[in-house]
Amino acid sequence: MYTCAPNGNSNADQVDRRDALPGSGVFSHDAGAAYMARRNGDCPMSENSLIDNQFRTAIDMIPTLVWAARPDGSAEFFNRRWLEYTGLTVDEAKNWGWVSALHPDEATNLRETWNTIMASGEPAEAEERLRRWDGEYRWFLFRAVPLRDEAGQVVRWYGTNTDIEHRRQSEQRTEEAEKRLRAAIDTIPAMVWTCLPNGLCDFVNERMLSYTGLSAEEMRGTGWKAMVHPDDMEEHLQAWTSSAETGNSFEFESRLLGADGHCRWFLHRAEPMRDESGNIVKWYGTNLDIDDRRRAEQELRTAHADLAHAMRVASLGEMAASIVHEVNQPLTAIVISGGACLTWLGKDPPDLDKVRTSVEQMVEAGERTGDVVQRLRALAKKGDPQKQLLAINEVIEECLAMVERELDNHGVTVRMELGNCLQPLLGDRVQLQQVIINLILNSVDAMGADANRPRQLLVRSEQTDRDQVIVAVQDSGIGIDPKDLDRLFDAFFTTKPDGLGMGLRICRTIIEDHGGMLWASRNADTGATFQFSLPLQTKV
Ligand code: ADP
Repeated sequence: MYTCAPNGNSNADQVDRRDALPGSGVFSHDAGAAYMARRNGDCPMSENSLIDNQFRTAIDMIPTLVWAARPDGSAEFFNRRWLEYTGLTVDEAKNWGWVSALHPDEATNLRETWNTIMASGEPAEAEERLRRWDGEYRWFLFRAVPLRDEAGQVVRWYGTNTDIEHRRQSEQRTEEAEKRLRAAIDTIPAMVWTCLPNGLCDFVNERMLSYTGLSAEEMRGTGWKAMVHPDDMEEHLQAWTSSAETGNSFEFESRLLGADGHCRWFLHRAEPMRDESGNIVKWYGTNLDIDDRRRAEQELRTAHADLAHAMRVASLGEMAASIVHEVNQPLTAIVISGGACLTWLGKDPPDLDKVRTSVEQMVEAGERTGDVVQRLRALAKKGDPQKQLLAINEVIEECLAMVERELDNHGVTVRMELGNCLQPLLGDRVQLQQVIINLILNSVDAMGADANRPRQLLVRSEQTDRDQVIVAVQDSGIGIDPKDLDRLFDAFFTTKPDGLGMGLRICRTIIEDHGGMLWASRNADTGATFQFSLPLQTKV
């Protein structure tokens, strides 16, 4: 009894009668001739030989190459498809002749593999190229199983070679496509990464590794955090965790530490890929180097700040009359109170109550002068914006105090309609003063052009909803030519002979920096209205 590993089918009949098969029985040509004769109907067939015949035909016809080998690995049988495919004769292929049909690159390899398989006595498989009769090589899957006797000794090897050329080609195509994709991912001028649905990193491209100097292994999971600038880490992590939890697109700017010890600004973006049920299967992200852009923005901001400062200082000149008046007023009060003080001290006995009142008035006037100087210094000073909680009505009143004299000198009557109970807003006091003063001085210019025109200025504040306040400066001046409406805020647009055309531009930048908008409109009757909106702090 023989058993064929691994399925254990009995092949005793087949093995016992092997001499009856053509090419088998060590390629017995006699047996082959007998087989052919029987197949051609030259001699009567018994029932067994009919079965043999069918069996033989099946082996020859199955669409795969079949062979059998002795325990030492030398071949003793090939089916017709094997011989037809290789174009070798039985004599050429038998024993070790079949090795000549292997691709030279794999021939040595396969022989070694084959020896190892035989030594192990276990079923095995290998992929090798086999030469076709016309010289073309195709990939085959070699499978071999041993047949054992009752003592467990291998008495024969049976095998098939299955054509897997199409599979190998498509694998090769996929491999090449992957290589091309990989090359593209590594070459594009951006860092590319992917994360699992739980937010853990599972891939970064070559550019990212060479920038950070970290290894792919170090970047995995949450290891990428090592490249984020410590000052940006908390917010970066918060933004990413929020996206990973909600599935919303990720967009964040932060600095990444380079292997050379420098850090640069990057724009990080990631989108989730979802399956049909909407579940996130992967995050795909890029980090784009925006360091040059950030630097240019910073330089632009500095240039804007310098210009805004220059404009503020210039407007101080325009406000000279008011400044002198504002400083003079309390000084005069101090002098008067000082004189009164002396008078009361000269009485016999001195009227100390009156002296006290006069000194108190002097102190109050002195403090007022101090306030005025403080405000002027703030306007003249150059410094970074400092946002704090402000009451907008207070800022408006301070501005009007600073330009009071100018308005007076130009015969402008001022009306204030300041809304009640306005919530505070987060802003830079000096910058907002600059905007309001600029708008008021422009109105003065617009009303001064025509001597016969009534000169009325209305300054309004109004809380339009819970979150926003609008401040409007409305005048009865010459108004705006409709064709200029779109250009008023352009840099260097001016209709004044000595104008610079930067005031409104700077005002708009300041307001937009505060999260608001500044716009102009023509009044129904005469003059113009400039107004801006600012977001209010709802939670204080
Ligand atoms: P400048 O005052 O140096 O001209 P601005 O940017 O402040 O620069 O103003 C630009 C232009 O906008 C002014 O030249 C003027 O034509 C117009 N403008 C500004 N404010 C008013 C106003 N209240 N009424 C009419 N025109 C105005």
